[in-house]
Amino acid sequence: MTKYPEYIPPAIPGHVNPPPAEYQDPSSFSFPGIHFTRNMHIDFTIDFNPRLLHGEARYTFLVKNPSATELVLDICGLTIKYIKIEDKILDYSIDNLSSPIGNALRIRLPDYLAVGDQQNIFRTIGYSTPGNGAGHQAGGALDWLKSEQTSSGEPFAFTQCQSIHARSIVPCQDTSAVKATYSALAKVAPPYQHLTVVMSAQNVPLRPGETGTRFECGVPVPSYLIAFACGLLEQRELSNRCVVWAEPSVVNASAHEFAEVEDMLVTAEKIAGPYVWGRYDLLVLPSSFPYGGMENPFLTFVTPTLLAGDRSMSNVIVHEIAHAWSGNLVSCQDTRHFWLNEGFTVKLERRIIREMRSKAREGLDGIAGRRDLDDLILSFGDNLKYSTLVSQLQVDEDPDDYFNIIPYEKGYNVLLLLEQKVEKEGGNLHDWMREYFKANEYQSINTDDFLRLFKEAFPNLYEKFEWDTWLYGEGNCVEYGDLDLTLVHQAAEFTDKWLDLFREVDSLPYDDAVEACRKQLGTDIDDFETWDAKTKHGFLTDLRGKIAANESPGQIVWNGKCPGYLEDIHGFNAIKNSEVRFMWCRLALSGCYENVLDNVNEFVSMQGRMKYIRPLYADMNDIYPKGSNATDLFAANKNSYHSIAVKMIERDLGLDGSRKTR
Ligand SMILES: [Zn+2]
Repeated sequence: MTKYPEYIPPAIPGHVNPPPAEYQDPSSFSFPGIHFTRNMHIDFTIDFNPRLLHGEARYTFLVKNPSATELVLDICGLTIKYIKIEDKILDYSIDNLSSPIGNALRIRLPDYLAVGDQQNIFRTIGYSTPGNGAGHQAGGALDWLKSEQTSSGEPFAFTQCQSIHARSIVPCQDTSAVKATYSALAKVAPPYQHLTVVMSAQNVPLRPGETGTRFECGVPVPSYLIAFACGLLEQRELSNRCVVWAEPSVVNASAHEFAEVEDMLVTAEKIAGPYVWGRYDLLVLPSSFPYGGMENPFLTFVTPTLLAGDRSMSNVIVHEIAHAWSGNLVSCQDTRHFWLNEGFTVKLERRIIREMRSKAREGLDGIAGRRDLDDLILSFGDNLKYSTLVSQLQVDEDPDDYFNIIPYEKGYNVLLLLEQKVEKEGGNLHDWMREYFKANEYQSINTDDFLRLFKEAFPNLYEKFEWDTWLYGEGNCVEYGDLDLTLVHQAAEFTDKWLDLFREVDSLPYDDAVEACRKQLGTDIDDFETWDAKTKHGFLTDLRGKIAANESPGQIVWNGKCPGYLEDIHGFNAIKNSEVRFMWCRLALSGCYENVLDNVNEFVSMQGRMKYIRPLYADMNDIYPKGSNATDLFAANKNSYHSIAVKMIERDLGLDGSRKTR
């Protein structure tokens, strides 16, 4: 039996405010202003053979409108077995819509419930599901890995519910306008009972007669934060409130990589206020996890692509820690206001980095973010619909189509600018953010709520700020705040040296050109070796940006030989830090450099993080080597990717018959 860490159950807070009756999330069929989930208990069994989740969910709803004759829940790919209230079976229907957001489960309410003011109603739903959306175009949360796909040789299952995939593992009001407490009793079907189940909740003792593992989340959370994983897992303690879980082959490397977690938490608390969740544990997922990290409460899920060996990618953990305040404690009401989660989180993340590393490191991260933002906006061409900070998501659209860095980086830049303007007036934005988190804790809010609160605190500044352009304007940011550019300049000077060299050696035979570069660079080559991975990444990003921005042909020389010089002198193909490797692969593909192809093939085959694989497939499809390389490679790797990643890449490559999303 796995020994779980001690737990400290958090205090159950007061009421969560339901939204007004007329409110509806464009990505949900439910009406949380009429019925509002207070609590959910999920009793589920993970069966690896066949791959099914069998569940029974029990709900407590707050009834805001007792005359309502039906209750609507979101589902996707679920087989409903029964719905009952106490012992009475209820009628229901499922809208058979061809919708990118799944289906509506309509439950007819018995007449005797249509009385009284506010009351709690209870009902039970039995269901089963493969959890992957069962072929529905919306995709699903659950990823099942065969024993050949894990390092432990045991099967593995994990969920990723953001943004609207909780509905593929449990019927629910799948909108972040609803925040509810939940509990779960998880079992694993034979012959895999020896596998461990971990969840985005506190592990608590079983009740008499129960088997399996019991969890409680006493803090109300939106449905997209419900998560579990099941596999052969071991844990290592990082501090008295943090452990890291991972498959045995990587658990020690994980403990080494994330050793600074307690320091990060302490720094975050200093800046954002008390950490209300009690424990902060980490789970390192198998390689098909499609994101860098997912801020599942109590248990952040992270990609193994962070295991660089030198802690050089720990800012992803800082980001997930920051979500304990923005996103998890104070949630956006729906994905149109996603920037309130991600913009605030990136702001907090870089503020923590400023404290723990330096202002120059924040500057490096901030500038890299601006470059990614500019790149993305450029790639939209004339269709700037996906570029507004408050998204224009409509009822018939898939919110995953809007998942990009706009809410992160535009959000960060608006808050950075506000920070500097507030400072000029003698204030401190992070002091205000601490109050904002406290005032809105356990609630879901929207952009108007943010504006109202900001106006109350800074009335003069509020009037002068270009809110409409920032929040609803398309395209690039209106104005950038200042950043410390020390490291950015260090990287840029090296870029300029290389750009000069490319021009100077262009007419020489290849080997002579490499020698000439080596001679000119001299001790800079050894100095570059000592740079940390972030600054090396900064150099590659800067180089790629300058090459892409070269508007007058002839000014910058960039051809198939140039990546070769870089490789021969700095050995980029051997660097395993995922960020550096990713940027190098993109840069080298843009130069049609054949010797990077093995590296790219290996990189997209060994992991399924969308941040890396989506642009690399797109580059291979659109830039180099074109032809059928991207589609062939995708076909070979498709089975090892998460269903969300498969859906997005099929769209990127135009394989699903729709327009390309990039
Ligand atoms: Zn985030």
